[in-house]
Amino acid sequence: VTAGSSWIEGDAWPSTALPLGVVEFDGRARPATAVGDHVVDLAGLASVGLLDGALDDPVERFSTPRLDALLAAGPTAWHGLRGRLLELVTDRGAARRMSPHVVPLAAVRPRLAWTVADYVDFYSSLDHATNVGRIFRPGEDPLPEAWRQLPIGYHGRAGTVMVSGTDVIRPCGLRPDRDGVSFGPSLQLDVEVEVGFVVGGHTSPGERVPPSAFADHVFGVVLVNDWSARDVQAFEYRPLGPFLGKSFATSVSAWIVPLEALEPARVAPPTQDPRPSAHLLPAGDAYDLDLELEIAGHVVSRPRFAGTYWTAAQQLAHLTSNGATLRPGDLYASGTVSGATAAERGCLLELTWGGRDELSLGDGSARTWLEDGDVVTIRGSAPGAGGGRLPLAEVTGRVQPAHH
Ligand code: CA
Repeated sequence: VTAGSSWIEGDAWPSTALPLGVVEFDGRARPATAVGDHVVDLAGLASVGLLDGALDDPVERFSTPRLDALLAAGPTAWHGLRGRLLELVTDRGAARRMSPHVVPLAAVRPRLAWTVADYVDFYSSLDHATNVGRIFRPGEDPLPEAWRQLPIGYHGRAGTVMVSGTDVIRPCGLRPDRDGVSFGPSLQLDVEVEVGFVVGGHTSPGERVPPSAFADHVFGVVLVNDWSARDVQAFEYRPLGPFLGKSFATSVSAWIVPLEALEPARVAPPTQDPRPSAHLLPAGDAYDLDLELEIAGHVVSRPRFAGTYWTAAQQLAHLTSNGATLRPGDLYASGTVSGATAAERGCLLELTWGGRDELSLGDGSARTWLEDGDVVTIRGSAPGAGGGRLPLAEVTGRVQPAHH
């Protein structure tokens, strides 16, 4: 863009975040980081030697339009890259040398940043699980028996994970209607506010990852919208859990915020009673992330991630506790993040209590479930270095009508 170093100034991304993503400009997609209101082409930096010594084979690592090779390289490479980028963006001379590889954020189109390998979704918010139990199984104990013994989860569909900004087509399925059950467009399309963790490196069969090794295997954090067709889900889910009510689409942020950037957000996790199994201890850190759900231009809730019952480290430990391998690009998500009050509920199922209560959007309109044309956006932020706030990359998507 501009010669010189002024491109580093800008409000969108503080220089301590250094999120990684893949963006398209000049007809080509390439790995990048974001600083201020600009993106920096990592393949470009590698090609002129600015990443030499920071990680092995920098040119090769950034030669494809995915972060896959970086995820595979593991924590030493992640740390080396972040350290070098921090040096470069705090050095005016380096900033000038980077300027040929810098493009305005507004001029690029985000792509899905990595190849999602396996996708797992958990169910780790106590308030969410309790509310859903009350709505789906009134009169029964809302929490399944195992809920406090282990982080409950299921394997989702990696191939339908899509980057923020991608339209979501209303799914069809078998769902109850006035005459019984029929096949058609979901009448109860919903969102779920979640936090996702992007895995790198490998494990070998039989290897278990203890919670203490979390940072060796998790590269960074994205926001996730686990779109859900509640009518399809409610009819199909027993006894094997979510299937077609969830698998049609899962949206993720365009930028992955490295775990290292979230150091200032680490807080003590909630108390767990009963004491979890040894393979889930010590619990590790919770992350103090403030989330925000916006539907059709109106903020409808502000869930807080810090209170989530099971930590991300325990989720990863449980996911590998049977000896199942990890591979680079695995994604796992927290489950819907909800808090104790109505203003902290992370999905319409809870906000409208199963469709019973209309949710006012503040402009005279109201929703029970999503309508065609609705844009849903999830935002988040965390405590940053020096008392500032660190943004997470938003995840947004517009609902399009079902195909007939
Ligand atoms: Ca979910």
